[in-house]
Amino acid sequence: MLIDSFNRKIDYLRLSVTDRCNLRCTYCMPSGGIKLIDRKEILTFEEILKAAGILSEMGIRKIRITGGEPLAREGIIDLIKQIKKIEKITDISITTNGILLNKYLDELYKIPVQGINISLDSLDRQKYKEITRGGEINQVLDAISNSINIGIKSVKVNVVITKLLDEKDINGFAAMTLDKPVHIRFIEMMQPAGGSDGSSEAIECSSISGINSLEFNNLRPVSPSQGFNPVDNIFSVMKKIGKYHAVNDKIGNGPALYYKFKKARGSIGFIINDKNLCSYCNRVRLTPYGTIRLCLFSDKEYDIKKKIRDNYCAADIKAEIAEFVKAKPQNREESCRYDNKDKAPINFKLKDFMNRIGG
Ligand code: SAM
Repeated sequence: MLIDSFNRKIDYLRLSVTDRCNLRCTYCMPSGGIKLIDRKEILTFEEILKAAGILSEMGIRKIRITGGEPLAREGIIDLIKQIKKIEKITDISITTNGILLNKYLDELYKIPVQGINISLDSLDRQKYKEITRGGEINQVLDAISNSINIGIKSVKVNVVITKLLDEKDINGFAAMTLDKPVHIRFIEMMQPAGGSDGSSEAIECSSISGINSLEFNNLRPVSPSQGFNPVDNIFSVMKKIGKYHAVNDKIGNGPALYYKFKKARGSIGFIINDKNLCSYCNRVRLTPYGTIRLCLFSDKEYDIKKKIRDNYCAADIKAEIAEFVKAKPQNREESCRYDNKDKAPINFKLKDFMNRIGG
């Protein structure tokens, strides 16, 4: 079993299979583009399977395939099939922008993947195009409907809160949950590495006192000077739609808090950068270039690719990983402090681009 120094059981792996992506979301990649990782440095399928196998023997049970855009990697379905065969892996799911999903949906359903998370930050065709720098929304909307219709067990829509998210979007997303078994998750944007352009400036949401309350009544804006709290704003639109209640059942593996309208088939969740939620963190990440990361906000890495390429024996790798995992920071604040040797004010900026770390 993988346990860190704060007694958190680590059983969930975010496995990023590529840094390549067929979209260029403004909050994820800078407008000038990023330097792609040399293909020689990207883990081969064989290496991914070896790493996943080792981690499964150490206690990883659930794997989420991500990227970059995971469906843009050639042979991805074969890889997922192979991962599914790893004895101790009980749950495999995927996060995708949905552009290529219709092409692979049948096969993903047959594997079967437990869940598909689809990113969609606006329901407006033009705004979607703007945020993704060119994406065609109809492909994504079809992919969401088709995923539900084919019978994927869990379909979630990830909505990063950008300045372009407006009341019409919120109404539209809420309406989707009324008649479809879909979980909409509003995600607080993290400050991207290297800055952002206007439309993707991170807007701080709120801090909550703890997951146990499962209520946002005590929301307080982190930056009152902004005079606008996007989460409060979403709640006030929801209030106009109708009665909703907090959902106490756990939906998925992530740190989201969920709400449901009366008689709705789906739910609305919030993923907020609150350090209290870090005490529930059960995950590590495998980057496409073969390192294990312990927290999105920390750039400390264990280079499992090097060990595999140098033919280290699995027992030695496991011993090193067990030691490395003990260094998992208590929370995102500690992650940032950890690397902040001169004790400057904590800067909650991602240390790397999301497409490289794996979202
Ligand atoms: N290409 C796939 C997709 O679009 O879902 C998978 C990779 S993407 C990096 C995974 C998730 O990370 C997406 O839901 C995306 O919206 C989210 N993400 C990327 N950059 C982010 C940021 N700066 N803040 C919050 N979420 C972000």
